Amino acid sequence: MDRKVSVVVSVYNEEKALEEFYRETGKVLNELDWDYELVFVNDGSADGSLAILDSLAERDSRVKVVSFSRNFGHEAAMIAGLDYSSGDAVVCMDADLQHPPECIPRILEKMAQGYEVISMVRTKNKSAGLVKNITSSGFYWLINHISDVHFEPNASDFFAVSRHVVQVLKDNYREKVRFLRGYVQNVGFRKATIEYEARARVAGESKYSLKKLFIFSINTILCFSNMPLKLGIYAGIFSALLGVAVIVYTLFTRQGAPSGYATIVVLICFMFAMMFAIIGIIGEYIAILFTELKDRPIYIVDRTRNVE
Ligand code: UDP
Ligand code: MG
Repeated sequence: MDRKVSVVVSVYNEEKALEEFYRETGKVLNELDWDYELVFVNDGSADGSLAILDSLAERDSRVKVVSFSRNFGHEAAMIAGLDYSSGDAVVCMDADLQHPPECIPRILEKMAQGYEVISMVRTKNKSAGLVKNITSSGFYWLINHISDVHFEPNASDFFAVSRHVVQVLKDNYREKVRFLRGYVQNVGFRKATIEYEARARVAGESKYSLKKLFIFSINTILCFSNMPLKLGIYAGIFSALLGVAVIVYTLFTRQGAPSGYATIVVLICFMFAMMFAIIGIIGEYIAILFTELKDRPIYIVDRTRNVE
């Protein structure tokens, strides 16, 4: 057993799910002919998660724990997991067992065949409601149309990468406003996808509200596409054409401009709306630039267990 797989798990208030996750995943991993380690990243949980992780780490030296000083978010937790992992293959999973551990053998089979990036694609998501499913398809449609990178629709934060790819991610993708899934799908290398059926959460509830998902989607669009910035150019061309049309109309009908207070008010509102929207978009890009420029850490580690 010279090959080793690291399973990276982000944990935020998952006290009710952790024991079961450890049991189920451990069972699958024990049957593999790979060595393994479980890297749990405690993302500032406010419940008993950390105590459970510590007790798991006490019992089992293959359990590594990296605990953040506060909640930094799922993205930060995943990159920390990659930073602290040491396996030849790294599998990222959620702690709530929505990503079935039974898929791990199939992932490793693909890895053994020489694939370096394995995206797990959801066929069904039992926990997500109709609204979440529709907005998610809409989001993928939009981002694939306006971005030059390709996003696998329904790809999840369940994926596996080789050590080589982990190194590339660690060295080159340290953005603060981030979307790991996007980088994973666009680093290149030999890629494979595996379908899986997302289970329902074992316990607790989703930390991603629709509002959080919305903000996250906007950030992703801004980070992976310059298209919104070009909207200003289109709006400019549109306004110019509108102006020309009004001039031509006025000259040909010799009636003066379409009369009325209402027309003017509507036009002013419309034009200002476009202008403010465009200023807002530029503002968003500046905010991201500012965040990147400040170069604050993606995460801060409080302490670790079983990590040399
Ligand atoms: N998570 C995290 N930090 C956060 C929110 C969530 O590490 O701020 C973890 C959470 O513990 C879980 C995973 O990210 O392991 C996915 O979260 P969740 O299941 O709430 O999202 P959903 O599956 O509903 O999209
Ligand atoms: Mg979940």
